[in-house]
Amino acid sequence: MPNEKPYDLVVVGAGAAGFFASAETLRLCPDARVLMLEKTSQVLAKVRISGGGRCNVTHNCFDNSRLQTHYPRGNSWLSGVFKRFSVKDTLSWFSGFGVKIVAEADGRMFPTSNRSESIVLALQESVRSSNFRLRTNCLVKSIKPENEGGFELLIKDSESIFAANVLVATGGSPGPAGFSFLSPLQLPLVSPVPSLFTFNVAKHDWASLMGLAVEKAAVSLPAFGLSFQGPVLVTHWGFSGPAILKLSAAAARLLHDCGYIFEFQIDFLPELSRQEIEQVLLSHIASNPKQKPSNAHIFEIPKRLWDQLCLESGLANHHNWAEAGKKKLSLIVELLKSKRFHASGKTTFKDEFVTAGGVSLEAIDSRTCQSKSHPGIFLAGEVLDVDGFTGGFNFQAAWSTGYVAALAISERISKKNQ
Ligand SMILES: Cc1cc2nc3c(=O)[nH]c(=O)nc-3n(C[C@H](O)[C@H](O)[C@H](O)COP(=O)(O)OP(=O)(O)OC[C@H]3O[C@@H](n4cnc5c(N)ncnc54)[C@H](O)[C@@H]3O)c2cc1C
Repeated sequence: MPNEKPYDLVVVGAGAAGFFASAETLRLCPDARVLMLEKTSQVLAKVRISGGGRCNVTHNCFDNSRLQTHYPRGNSWLSGVFKRFSVKDTLSWFSGFGVKIVAEADGRMFPTSNRSESIVLALQESVRSSNFRLRTNCLVKSIKPENEGGFELLIKDSESIFAANVLVATGGSPGPAGFSFLSPLQLPLVSPVPSLFTFNVAKHDWASLMGLAVEKAAVSLPAFGLSFQGPVLVTHWGFSGPAILKLSAAAARLLHDCGYIFEFQIDFLPELSRQEIEQVLLSHIASNPKQKPSNAHIFEIPKRLWDQLCLESGLANHHNWAEAGKKKLSLIVELLKSKRFHASGKTTFKDEFVTAGGVSLEAIDSRTCQSKSHPGIFLAGEVLDVDGFTGGFNFQAAWSTGYVAALAISERISKKNQ
């Protein structure tokens, strides 16, 4: 048992969720003694680099049931969480610290300063209190329940810190080692794997098309029956863009399990059926029999893409449509509707990645973000088996779970001090 009075709350991890929960606990219980422990020398490191240094704080989605659909893991569990703290609440919270957040055309929301530093400063300001202490370079090695209630946190070599409540906000980790400090609590884990990545293609014939963007495509993984529509971008190594990233998140575990060697297909005209494409082609040919196929502009796709597909179908070798046989027409229809690629590996998207997996939601009450087996242990942010698509959804989950945890932590602290 400690000589010193245990902290009311020890927060493990000085990231988005840890700061948000600390700030809200201090707002609701100004007298609470809160200690934050961070293993690195820097706080809010990911917030700083997020969104290419602009911080995509949240997403312009005010309907909670729609918001949930942007989370391949945690979808229904988040319903209770978003009910308590929504996108609207995020905007008014930051506005309370003088940070205005606006939406871009695709729904992503950024501070008007376009600098993540505005978010960092707001979060730092929010914990300004004589009752708040921060220790950096302080790795938490284990969290053990005490017989008399409360918890002992082992840090550094042999130092112990005692707390009545602990918030675990340590973020994601690509491997199980990042969760080993939780083992004395025996919280069930869903094995962590990376999410949000671009697809690499070996011997990438399309590398010369690097930078080519197709605004409306559908990418699918036939082996897993998954498909997403959205923009697709050709990169030096393979393919990126919102449709690819969504697919990488939805199939994060399946793709991990097959060693990132898989086949994917791109439909460049998802709004037209094969038959409709064929009809459009035939009526175009009927009115332009002497046109060179590669000079045609028939569909709403970039010229470079049409050139590539003409090359692959053999149409590029013909001087006019009349010369090109039925077989080549069928081939270009096939390429437009389901061009196949073989992926072999993945690449991180603009350094952004999140973890699929983490502490199992079965063990956590979504009304409080509290462990069901260890009252007093709370979890928020990416350490949970919750992750979203790219677009501000991961930070929204961190703010919302941080808030819900803080609300329940404050209730416990107030009850104890009555
Ligand atoms: C490059 C990049 C860009 C991103 N951009 C966006 C974006 O624009 N929008 C968006 O929504 N999401 C973005 N994300 C995802 C987002 O950053 C995370 O989902 C979010 O930071 C999770 O918050 P968190 O508080 O749970 O964890 P983190 O922010 O990861 O914080 C966890 C903290 O805990 C510390 N820690 C870990 N273990 C211990 C331990 N044992 N003891 C003490 N401290 C420990 C870590 O050092 C870290 O500081 C991005 C991610 C990356 C990598």
